[in-house]
Amino acid sequence: MGFNIAVDGPAGAGKSTIAKLVAKKMNLIYVDTGAMYRAMAVYFIKQGVDIDDVEAVAEACTGADITIKYENGMQMVYLNDENVTAYLRTEEVGNAASVTSGVAQVRARLLELQRTLAKTSDCIMDGRDIGTCILPNADVKIYLTASSAVRAKRRFDELVAKGEECDLATIQADIEERDYRDMNREVAPLKQAEDAILVDSSYMTIEEVVKRIVEIAEERK
Ligand code: C5P
Repeated sequence: MGFNIAVDGPAGAGKSTIAKLVAKKMNLIYVDTGAMYRAMAVYFIKQGVDIDDVEAVAEACTGADITIKYENGMQMVYLNDENVTAYLRTEEVGNAASVTSGVAQVRARLLELQRTLAKTSDCIMDGRDIGTCILPNADVKIYLTASSAVRAKRRFDELVAKGEECDLATIQADIEERDYRDMNREVAPLKQAEDAILVDSSYMTIEEVVKRIVEIAEERK
């Protein structure tokens, strides 16, 4: 078993930014499980599957083989041997992932991959159900959150910096809708594990959050 840090929390809480920095500081592999659900979503979109049709999604997912590789420390996600990493971070794919990740068969296809990675490497893994389902015995569990207004503003600033046109109220509504779906689904809903430490990053800088998590993790190493 590797040394494992589980980070869960809602969309836009900064999990991936923080986890990447902690990984660098502590010499861990960063495992982005959201990217795996996003790669699944790319498959459904490519295949023209109706993502609201649970049975169709459950059946189609058997044709998606997701694997990951590390290139210069960066996680690359492969869908049926094609590197799809560049297509994962759009709103369309994120929303489709949020809908299809509620399907039990989709989750079951990714569970072994995630557990094997944790067993064979020292890693920090982020997602929604890492501390509650995937790695119940993780050495450290963090529940990273921030208010939906703060998360929306961060996302808005990111998009504006990229030169994209967007509307703050729409982004906040999207985030709240995604929170609702992630927290209220039947299979592996997003919630804080009983033994997870809550970190609310609403009024913390990235550096402060990283420092806090590294401190917690160093104590348990
Ligand atoms: O974290 P990210 O936004 O990349 O995740 C995309 C979607 O995948 C989330 O909205 C969530 O519904 C789903 N997801 C999940 N379980 C995980 C990681 C992501 O259900 N462990």
